[in-house]
Amino acid sequence: MQQFEIFNYMEKYGYENVFLCQDKEVDFKAVIAIHSTALGPAAGGTRMWKYDSEMDAIFDAMRLARGMTYKYAATGANMGGGKAVIIGDPKRTDREVTFRTLGKFINRLGGKYYSGEDVGTTLDDMEYMYMETPYMITLPEYLGGTGPISPMTAFGVIQAMRASAKQVFGSDDLKGKAVAVQGVGSVGSSVVAQLLELGARVLVSDIEESRVNDIARRFEVKGKISPDAIYDVDCDVFCPCALGAVINDDTIPRLKCKIVCGSANNQLKEERHGDILEQRGIFYAPDYVANAGGAVYDVDRLFAGGTVNKERARAKVARIYQRMEELIDIAKRDKVPTYKAADIMAEERIASVAKVKRHWETMRPFDD
Ligand code: NAD
Repeated sequence: MQQFEIFNYMEKYGYENVFLCQDKEVDFKAVIAIHSTALGPAAGGTRMWKYDSEMDAIFDAMRLARGMTYKYAATGANMGGGKAVIIGDPKRTDREVTFRTLGKFINRLGGKYYSGEDVGTTLDDMEYMYMETPYMITLPEYLGGTGPISPMTAFGVIQAMRASAKQVFGSDDLKGKAVAVQGVGSVGSSVVAQLLELGARVLVSDIEESRVNDIARRFEVKGKISPDAIYDVDCDVFCPCALGAVINDDTIPRLKCKIVCGSANNQLKEERHGDILEQRGIFYAPDYVANAGGAVYDVDRLFAGGTVNKERARAKVARIYQRMEELIDIAKRDKVPTYKAADIMAEERIASVAKVKRHWETMRPFDD
């Protein structure tokens, strides 16, 4: 990658800390980046990945941490943004020593950073981290956590889709709407189930044929589409639930939908693709708002002495609908595309809450 000046980058985007952690004895190297604690302690999952260079790992941790700040801020959660990255093969087998070591480093931060799952890590790994630190957001249910969060991520996507439909079609009723779902893994399969309950017509695609067949067997889907053809489908909503960067120069001219709304992270290959969608009259539900359901659900218990209350947490996820309405208002007010409006919404909330920041020092979850 290009020369990357860490302090310049930190100053430019307002990062608070970047911690480098190593323990030669156990072949451990990790980065913990804290972007912002303006709204509350930083939170974000732990990624384990083989990076080409140390700088790539540091940059990835920083980029992902900042993304978490925006996600929590835009969706009304009182958490800041952070991320941990372990430099290593996600398939490494010495899980206990690796994740307990990270847990020890996280514990040192005294609750300024809470961790959870991400690419290359599992709920079992969270259990190892929890042996060394209580500062965990994602935990199995038998350890007091919420368990798998994908169904709530899917529920949030549905709320974003309903709000998008209201803006585009004048009604948030998804009954009869054709939705093309790309990727029917953990989130996508739950999106399909929830869409069918609402009476939508669902088309699905996945590179794993067995997953498509499984979904078709379990539910009444209207079509199985080959992975490449999903961009050409005549539909009301294109719902990316697989990979990032799927909205790009090659795919945009092919899209026949009115709305793009799904769970995948970083759907726009570049920001300008959000501008192009807008110019073509395709409404874009910003990914980090649409896919925040699981994150919002997961952190809810931190504000109630650590106790899970699924009904309360679900109600918070449902508010993604209102957050979408707010950002649509901002887009109209500032005459900007929706992806920019989401950033503005997050930044405005951080700026206004920062004015009362002194109060947060005595608020939960700091005193839990
Ligand atoms: P997953 O791995 O369970 O599912 C992804 C599915 O996409 C798999 O079935 C895979 O075969 C399929 N896929 C991969 N490439 C494809 C392609 N080119 N065309 C069609 N299908 C393809 O992952 P997930 O947990 O369901 O997450 C899906 C997306 O949502 C990811 O981008 C993830 O980062 C994002 N996300 C997930 C959550 C969550 O709660 N799991 C939260 C926020 C964001």
